[in-house]
Amino acid sequence: MEVSDELRSLEATGIYRLAGSLAAFLDPVRLLSESYRRFRLIPSAYYSRSFGPSNQEGHAQGERTAPSPDRKKRKRKRQPRSRELNAVEQIAEARHQEARALLITAHKSLLEAKDLLEFLPGMVKGDECMQDVQTSSENNFFELGSSWRAPLCEMTLCFQKPHGQGEKGSCHVQRRSSTLFNKIISIEENDEAEGEFQNRLYILPKGSCFLMTDVKHVRDLIPDNSNDGYNLIVIDPPWENGCVRQKEAYPTLPNRYLLYLPVQELADPAGALLVLWITNREKLRRFVEDELLPSWGVKDPTEFYWLKVKSDGSLIGDLDLFHHRPYECLLLGYINVNREAEPGSNFKFLQASQVIMSVPGAHSRKPPLQRILSEFIPGSKPPRCIELFARELGSGWTSWGNEPLHFQDSMYFTEK
Ligand code: SAM
Repeated sequence: MEVSDELRSLEATGIYRLAGSLAAFLDPVRLLSESYRRFRLIPSAYYSRSFGPSNQEGHAQGERTAPSPDRKKRKRKRQPRSRELNAVEQIAEARHQEARALLITAHKSLLEAKDLLEFLPGMVKGDECMQDVQTSSENNFFELGSSWRAPLCEMTLCFQKPHGQGEKGSCHVQRRSSTLFNKIISIEENDEAEGEFQNRLYILPKGSCFLMTDVKHVRDLIPDNSNDGYNLIVIDPPWENGCVRQKEAYPTLPNRYLLYLPVQELADPAGALLVLWITNREKLRRFVEDELLPSWGVKDPTEFYWLKVKSDGSLIGDLDLFHHRPYECLLLGYINVNREAEPGSNFKFLQASQVIMSVPGAHSRKPPLQRILSEFIPGSKPPRCIELFARELGSGWTSWGNEPLHFQDSMYFTEK
């Protein structure tokens, strides 16, 4: 099969733009690997949920593990009879119907991209076998960070430094220690660092920065000089919901706490694009639109969708299943940007909804957005980017949350 320019672009940049629709397919592994010189992400570790038993049985990919026969029985008993939707559910359903045509067009254009479909299974599997992913012995940062031991925890940062002239290619390792919690750690060198903590190794990209704290200390992120504010602010809150509770994946926060995030103080006075991931719950949507976004100074948000597909291109679940939509929503809006008075500005205004498609990784892990949004980000280039409630790091990003090193564990990486 002939390789299209779009497929070449996917291999080079991690993005395949789909003709005839406002949609693009992303390869998160390719996009995230750009932050590293000596390492890259292992596809089969990123997409490990794609290889679980649930996938083989045709369930939504990795969203749930295959239920035990007992649970199936209990589930069947609890199945409500089909009933009329209540008033709030009707609004949610109307919202879904509005998005449906766009989502179907996007998915149809993916299914028509034959070269992409042929490429996908190999992209997800990668060349190497998944390393021994020992998630059971991973550090639980949010538990550690809230324990009495937190102030005593130190990470040893190791940097590879080239030897002087005459010894081409050889390196020596420089080490320094840093308090791990409640302190901003920046990797300013030109190369990634390796962080040692409690017998595990973490890969820290060059030009990345992180602060591992509880939300109580989030104001420590505010830059001393407001001109050092951020141009892209991505927020993926730990919304309270049954699925997270059931999986005990991470602690959640009451919605109202988010009103206290210092979003305006983090934004560049010359303009910032804010991206907020939300769930499909209608009550949450109302809170976000009526209270949260206005309190952060965000007006008229545009909605994007993340449509989740399997490695054969099919959706991870039925598009119309009320409580388990195979897509998530993100709201995007500007802070400190006047839409009327911006002729000749160095970025494009967001106009219409778009669909981003990818094969999902671990539970709740979102695809990286900087490249696909780059033309919409105001301010100087390269933009200063921050993620609130992050679980990974990136070059040019500040990552904050109670476990921003979660996906930096060396088990997700291989040396190039
Ligand atoms: N964007 C992430 C990704 O793509 O992997 C997922 C973020 S997840 C939805 C929310 C994160 O917020 C979790 O890592 C959770 O531990 C963290 N979190 C929960 N409560 C917190 C708190 N009180 N302070 C700081 N972070 C918190």
